[in-house]
Amino acid sequence: MSSNASEHPEPAAANAERCGLCAYLDSSPLAGWVYEDDLWKAGIYPTNEVPGWIALVLRRHAEATSELREDEARSLGPALARLSGAIEQATGAERVYLQVYGETFRHWHVLLSARGAEIPLEHRHAAFHPHMAEYVDVPAAAAAGRRIADALAARA
Ligand SMILES: [Zn+2]
Repeated sequence: MSSNASEHPEPAAANAERCGLCAYLDSSPLAGWVYEDDLWKAGIYPTNEVPGWIALVLRRHAEATSELREDEARSLGPALARLSGAIEQATGAERVYLQVYGETFRHWHVLLSARGAEIPLEHRHAAFHPHMAEYVDVPAAAAAGRRIADALAARA
């Protein structure tokens, strides 16, 4: 019999606490919000301060891709294209990965992850996320965030 029940709260108990991404939406992220519209906000997420890593977060708390409303789904593609272009321009990334998990917080978001030429082959593809901590650089992430916001403003 497992004795670690307190480490794994029942869903009802977990849901009683405020969603971390709802709280994030009310915060002032590092380097500010790089992108905002009526349905989405994008910024650097705490603990993900890798240069060119930006979380695009649905303003409304919805928990699965299948729960996106039509207006949210329709606006997602253009937002991803604009943000990815700005990240490429601002960081010189060879690739911009899109990562959607929703395991830590079941609030729909996508993590856009710049993957530069300096990232070794063994840390590319799905191996990049587990190695994220090795690439955290808060000042460089903040500087990249400001350049991404500037690139988006210049494209508007
Ligand atoms: Zn939420």
